[in-house]
Amino acid sequence: MTVVDRLGTGRTTFSVEFFPPRNDEEERVLWRAVRELEPLDPAFVSVTYGAGGSSRDRTIRTTGRIAQETTLTPMAHLTAVDHSVAELRNVIGWYAASGVRNVLAVRGDPPGDPNGEWISHPEGLEYAEELVRLVRDLGDFCVGVAAFPHGHPRSADLDTDADHLVRKIRAGAGFAIAQLFLDPEYFLRLRDRLAARGCDAPLLPGVMPITTPRVLAKFGELAGVPVPAAISDRLLPLADDPAAFRQAGVEVVTRLCERLIAEGVPALHFYTLNRSKATCQVVSDLGL
Ligand SMILES: Cc1cc2nc3c(=O)[nH]c(=O)nc-3n(C[C@H](O)[C@H](O)[C@H](O)COP(=O)(O)OP(=O)(O)OC[C@H]3O[C@@H](n4cnc5c(N)ncnc54)[C@H](O)[C@@H]3O)c2cc1C
Repeated sequence: MTVVDRLGTGRTTFSVEFFPPRNDEEERVLWRAVRELEPLDPAFVSVTYGAGGSSRDRTIRTTGRIAQETTLTPMAHLTAVDHSVAELRNVIGWYAASGVRNVLAVRGDPPGDPNGEWISHPEGLEYAEELVRLVRDLGDFCVGVAAFPHGHPRSADLDTDADHLVRKIRAGAGFAIAQLFLDPEYFLRLRDRLAARGCDAPLLPGVMPITTPRVLAKFGELAGVPVPAAISDRLLPLADDPAAFRQAGVEVVTRLCERLIAEGVPALHFYTLNRSKATCQVVSDLGL
């Protein structure tokens, strides 16, 4: 089934994101998480793609194994960084050959310094919008794109950012997944901006259970905005008490998810960092 089919049930579901393992130990950790999440029936399972194809073979292998050895619906990410169109066609062909029909088409960031100057490959693509078209043109793929509740750092303002997101969706994407956020208002206002532009493609919030102070720091890094003071004031005093920190961090994210479910989101997309325990806990607390 495609991701869009899996999202069309009329009730809120959830999906999970993994990164491709870099060694045998990471492979074991990932597959433990996959097997623990499988019975909870996530709508889909996505696997990220490293800059410049650094994870190409591992992303192909991991999504292929998920397609062939589990009951889960896999989605492979793909970026345009350092790839010619010919190379991109090749990767998309491998996805198809290994049974992967869902692709998250993102531009990617410049390798090394994500905030550095974006330089496209001389025979490559400039924007994710073009990657969406390429993937759609090459076969019967269901394509998703990235969305930014706080605006993409390279966008002039939130309205221009929303215009570009709508262009990606009109280029052939069936859904969008949002970057991490902790204040639901930013996500809901992005959804309003899409609706105001006549775009009703499913928009999935990205959520990450905050289990340790390190994950909290990573959160700020990924979201590109500071953690709201109310949340850091609650969590940081617990930094030396791992169990209390974890409990409070999971609770913060569960409350956020409750609000999003009340707002009718089609699915919650969990950034798992290849662990399953906290995601399973939030999912079962929410009764998903
Ligand atoms: C859910 C999710 C998953 C991700 N997965 C990965 C991954 O697997 N691997 C990885 O390396 N990175 C990943 N990223 C990070 C992503 O690659 C970066 O955030 C990147 O900087 C933006 O990608 P994009 O697809 O949104 O780019 P684009 O949509 O191309 O946008 C890039 C910038 O250009 C602007 N823009 C877009 N279209 C136009 C246009 N037509 N004209 C002018 N300006 C335009 C946008 O507003 C934005 O400022 C992911 C991000 C998210 C939210």
